[in-house]
Formats: sequence, C-alpha cells, structure tokens
Amino acid sequence: MAPADINVDVLVIGAGPTGLGAAKRLNQIDGPSWMIIDCNETPGGLASTDVTPEGFLYDVGGHVIFSHYKYFDDCIDEALPKAEDWYTHQRISYVRIKNQWVPYPLQNNVSMLPQEDKLRCVDGMIDAAIAARTATTKPADFDEWIVRMMGEGLADIFMRPYNFKVWAVPTTKMQCQWLGERVAAPDVKTCVRNVILNKSAGNWGPNATFRFPARDGTGGIWIAVANTLPKEKTLFGKQGEVSKVDADGHKVTLKGGKTISYKKLITTVAVDQLVEHMEDQELITLSKGLFYSSTHVIGVGIRGERPERIGDKCWLYFPEDDCPFYRATIFSNYSPNNQPEKSVKLATQSIADGSKPKSTEPQEGPYWSIMLEISESSMKPVDQANLMRDSIQGLINTDMIKPDDEIVSTYHRRFDHGYPTPSLEREGVLKELLPKLQAKDIYSRGRFGSWRYEVGNQDHSFMLGVEAADNIVNGAVELTLNYPDFVNGRQNTERRLVEGSQVFRNKATDKADAAGAAKVIDIEANKAGITNGTKELPTRDRAASKTSSSSHARKSSKSVK
Ligand SMILES: Cc1cc2nc3c(=O)[nH]c(=O)nc-3n(C[C@H](O)[C@H](O)[C@H](O)COP(=O)(O)OP(=O)(O)OC[C@H]3O[C@@H](n4cnc5c(N)ncnc54)[C@H](O)[C@@H]3O)c2cc1C
Repeated sequence: MAPADINVDVLVIGAGPTGLGAAKRLNQIDGPSWMIIDCNETPGGLASTDVTPEGFLYDVGGHVIFSHYKYFDDCIDEALPKAEDWYTHQRISYVRIKNQWVPYPLQNNVSMLPQEDKLRCVDGMIDAAIAARTATTKPADFDEWIVRMMGEGLADIFMRPYNFKVWAVPTTKMQCQWLGERVAAPDVKTCVRNVILNKSAGNWGPNATFRFPARDGTGGIWIAVANTLPKEKTLFGKQGEVSKVDADGHKVTLKGGKTISYKKLITTVAVDQLVEHMEDQELITLSKGLFYSSTHVIGVGIRGERPERIGDKCWLYFPEDDCPFYRATIFSNYSPNNQPEKSVKLATQSIADGSKPKSTEPQEGPYWSIMLEISESSMKPVDQANLMRDSIQGLINTDMIKPDDEIVSTYHRRFDHGYPTPSLEREGVLKELLPKLQAKDIYSRGRFGSWRYEVGNQDHSFMLGVEAADNIVNGAVELTLNYPDFVNGRQNTERRLVEGSQVFRNKATDKADAAGAAKVIDIEANKAGITNGTKELPTRDRAASKTSSSSHARKSSKSVK
C-alpha cells in the first residue's frame, strides 16, 4: 500500500462540538499524535451561525446551553473568558395556544386554558394517575408514555400535535427511553388547585437562566474553542473534506486526493454518511434502519422597536396548525449584536402582508429579529418554495408580527440532518452498528455520529468527543454514550480542563523525557476496553467510579504502537 501523506495516531473528522471536544482532550493529554479536519472553513458544524447580507445573525435554530459538565464549562470559559463575552438571560418561554400565550411548561399552567380544555386536561390527568397505580408494564412507545404521564387531554391539545411538528414523525413511531429528564410530569393536585383558584404556575422555576455569546452567535463559541487548538493540527475547508474511509487500511482519503493514515478514527460525520464513505454494504444496509428529520431555519429581520407583546420572551412553542413552525426564537433579544445597529440604513424588502413597500429607499432602524424552525421528513413534507411566505403569514396569524410590519431581511437554510429521531428501531440499529465500527477502530460519535438525541446537545456532543479520546488513551468508560440518564441526572464535575493529576503528570513526564524515555499511552492495549489489566465495568455505579479514578491516573510510560 502506498504510504499516506499524513500519519497520525488519532484522526478526528468534523470540527463541530464533538470533534472539538475530542481535539481539546487530545491536546490536553498531549499523548498520541492527532489531527482534526472539517470540510467547512469555519468550525462549529450544526452549532454555527450565519450572517445575512443585511447583518442579521442566525444560529441553526434555537441554541441554548444547559451544561451538564464542568469540563465543557471549563473549555468554553477558556475560549470566551471575559464577562463581556456573554449575556445572561432569564428563560422566558411560552406556548401559543388558543390565541393566547401560556407560560411554559404548559402542563403546569392548564388553568389558563379555555374552560372545556381545562376540563379535558384535568380529566385526563386524573385518569392517568389512577392508571399509573395499577400499571405493571412500561409504555411501549412515546405516545403511550405521553398518555400515561399526562393523560389524553394534554396529549391531544399539546403533546401530540407539538411533537409531530418537532419530530416530523407521529408519537406512535417513537420510543420513550430517550425522555429521561426532558419532560416534567404534571403534579395533578397542584394543577387541580390552580384550576379551581384560577392561578397559573408561571414560567420555569427561580434562577432559570442561560448565557449566550455577546458576539458571533452560538458559532462564536466554537470558533473561539477551535482557536485554542494548535493551528498545525487543524485542516479546515475544502481540503479537509473526506471522500473515502478505508477501514481495513486505516486510511482516509480527502477530496483533493491527499491521504491520512490513523490508528484510531473519531468521526462525527452522520453515521449513515460515514458508512457510505466506507462503501461497506453490510453497514449501509444496517444504517438504513435509522431515521432523521431535516430542519429549515427561517430568519425574519424587522424594522421598528421590539413590540410590547413580544417583550423579553426568549423562545416560543407553536403546537397548532396556524403556522408551519414549531418554535420561534426572538434572536434579537439574545444579544444586541445579533442585528444591525439602529444607524444602519436598510431598504424595506416587503411588507409582512406581502404588499410592496411604498419606498425602497434605505432607512435607519431600530431592528429586531425572529428565528423560526420547521421540520421536514418523508412523513411530513414541506412546501419549500412557499415556506418563507407561509412562515411570515404564520407570524401574522400568531400575533408575532403585524400585517404592516416592514421586513428588511429574510434568511432560509435547510439542514438535511436536523434531528436524530429516537425511533422504535433506533437502539436495535445502534447496538449493532456502533460496536461493528469500533471493532474497526472507528469511534462514530456526536449528534448524528452516535444518533442519540438525549445526548445530542452541544455539551453532550462535546463530551462524547472528550470521552472517546479518553477511551482511546486510557480505556475510560464513555458515560455519555452508554449511560445518558446517568450523566443527565447529575453534575459531572470529575473531569477538569486543568487537573491536579495533569500538573503532576507533566512534571513526571518532563522527568521521563529528560531520562530519554518515550512519552505516553498504549492505544492498542485499550482496544478491547482493557486498562491497567482490568476490563470495562458493566454497571452504572462501577462505571462512574472507574471514570473518576481513571481521569486522575492516566498511564504515562508506554509508547504508541
Ligand atoms: C435545530 C437544532 C436546534 C438545536 N438546539 C440546541 C440547543 O438548544 N442547545 C444545544 O446545546 N444544542 C442544540 N442543538 C445541537 C447542536 O447543534 C449539536 O449538539 C452539535 O452541533 C452536534 O455536534 P457534532 O459535532 O456532533 O455534529 P455537527 O455539528 O453536525 O458537526 C459535524 C461536522 O462534521 C463535518 N463533516 C461532515 N462530513 C464531513 C466530511 N465528509 N469531511 C469532513 N468533515 C465533514 C461537518 O462539516 C461538521 O462541521 C441543536 C441542533 C439543531 C439542529
């Protein structure tokens, strides 16, 4: 076989959060040689931000950070360290239903619904509570889970229509193990009390806040994280596009013809696309069992002061069919830098009702903006050609904008892989596919790399990369991949960007180097999950204890084979 152009121990494909997590960890460990590549010039993947010609910013839908991991916090704090790098916001979120705004979560605010809907919801919740006392089996699918948790009333009014709009798949075709912490079950007594007393529970709990980058949108975080990596180990842009993965030869071919050989591959490419690059018929057939939906992101920039009725709302849910979108984010509320300054003169492109503006002469702002998300799948097609028009009409229908509002900028982009569907078939496929890849030294990780939505947010994705690197280096159990409920149910504080053991190890390694010994890590010994002579621990508790100890006691005296 011809020698490769580049040789590394660990190759990371993709510079979205997962790939950057892997690269950060490999850089911190400073053991095996590594490189990260991406076909995009700008890192960030699905967590990137676009800018319209008029100067409005849009993320790939509403991206809010709810970190479960200290290590993730460390890395983004290192990248954007100053207080002025961030804005902190109160989570203010509503559901648009029956022509009114009901604070989210809806199940806690049933008292605000019209009389007959209140009755339906309370009726259903009581039925569900009674049924729960005698139920002996687990719900078979997401739909059954909804009915058992919330009852038929809330299922019909909100959960079924809303979830179909989000997932583009009926709730009966989805499993429910993924839910874990995500959906709050209503407290029947509180709900009934609020209905009788005509009170609402309000929005979230106290201190429900989130932070958002002051500049460059969510994508700004990942550009900044990528900037903390050594440039010579990154290859971004057209020249970083993978066209072929030769699993047996441990070699990747890039579009320009260059080849990179690796011992271990961490890939964050959607796994169904990865297996196509591998030209592995068995795995291609297997991956066909996975389902995903596409996401359309629509942005609308409007001239004028932000209206009172919008106020400081962050994101809003739309279960009804008076608009194509399931969620709207008031993106201009997240940072004043998400839209042009007031003094910037922009022409009116159209009036919201579709009529022509009286003048196309550029005029000053102020400006505000809305970002919308619309799902698409074979089960929920989208009229793409008219989507902008339908969305703007939907904004009028839901009282988000007025028919005479001046639209100064629009944005529409379709992301083919948007949501990895927790379908009924998903686990069966993943349990076969991921180990088969790993047996070939391929770690397929990330939102679409490992296809688990419940650990598919930015913090999870980043840690999937970090943990894959740790597994390669020292065999540590990948908790996020294997125990989603566990990591989602606790604060994961064991790993830190600067660790006591790291400081200590660097000193020890320096001494070893001075004595002429080679640096670090036996990748092969970890191939079968064997570290320090012990096999991977199967149970959750033992897995947790192993991770914390392994991250403090890395091997440091063997050479890379
Ligand atoms: C609509 C939407 C809303 C979201 N909301 C939130 C939220 O509120 N909070 C949150 O934390 N997360 C949110 N997320 C999730 C977040 O975007 C993901 O967690 C994250 O982007 C996944 O990172 P990743 O690295 O696994 O994959 P990606 O971001 O998809 O990165 C994969 C990378 O691989 C590269 N690549 C693909 N093919 C090749 C190839 N052949 N050669 C070279 N490179 C290649 C791509 O260019 C890309 O950069 C949301 C996602 C979507 C789509």
